[in-house]
Amino acid sequence: RPDAAAGVSPPTALTIAGSDSGGGAGIQADLRTFFACGVHGMTAVTAVTVQNSLGVEDFAEIPSNVVTAQIRAVTGDMGADAAKTGMLATAEIITAVAKTLGEVGIGRDADVPFVVDPVAASMHGDPLLREEALEAIRTELLPRATLVTPNLDEVRLLTGVEVTDTESRRAAAEALLALGPRWVLVKGGHDSGPRCVDLLSDGATHLEFDGPRRDTPHTHGGGDTLASAVTAALAKGADVPAAVAEGKRFIERCVAEAYPLGGGIGPVSPFW
Ligand code: PLP
Repeated sequence: RPDAAAGVSPPTALTIAGSDSGGGAGIQADLRTFFACGVHGMTAVTAVTVQNSLGVEDFAEIPSNVVTAQIRAVTGDMGADAAKTGMLATAEIITAVAKTLGEVGIGRDADVPFVVDPVAASMHGDPLLREEALEAIRTELLPRATLVTPNLDEVRLLTGVEVTDTESRRAAAEALLALGPRWVLVKGGHDSGPRCVDLLSDGATHLEFDGPRRDTPHTHGGGDTLASAVTAALAKGADVPAAVAEGKRFIERCVAEAYPLGGGIGPVSPFW
């Protein structure tokens, strides 16, 4: 809790992401997570999705100059202790965001940690990224990333590697690291089987997070929530392995608290 009387501000984190009208994923999940993790959340909205528990019906992207103006407005005044990206929608937005993050000193070669959650589609399979934008994520965003957090579908889209076992998981991590991020977290959440294995690697250190898979259909917003919890921990000063461990503990608790809502997939939740 920030000590207002002593004039102490809380750590701040910026999410550059899309709005989910259903309140389950996107910037809504990010802000909820930042709040639950004790950091002040700020947003640069990239797109507005028309969405509920049944899927994404449509989306409209925000003009890229408005996206970058939001980043400049908040970083110039309040500063950001860490930042993350979620849904970025188009190559034009990705290019503009990457350039602006460089200008404001966010990313792997600056002091401010930067997490890229390379969101490509919803769990219903609805696209959240125009197809031509993948190359912009590879060439413009990943070289700036402190950490990239793909699920197995995103790993395949970004590298062509199909993860089926420990060896292919290592190969996927290497292929992603070759694109320039400092660390990669290959998430096993979308895999099948009784265990959920995530691999965190910087090429020298390889850490496996192995946990039981929880039997719930309600995992909407899970990827966003994990990436936000890691970003919050980085904003509070943790290093990447400690931040990922903290994020994993947080998302496991959120999945355990997930609730049904609407007729489809309900959201993970930090209700406790
Ligand atoms: N909508 C928005 C705006 C998102 O950012 C995301 C995920 O990043 C989703 C929907 C999809 O969430 P899920 O795959 O958990 O359904």
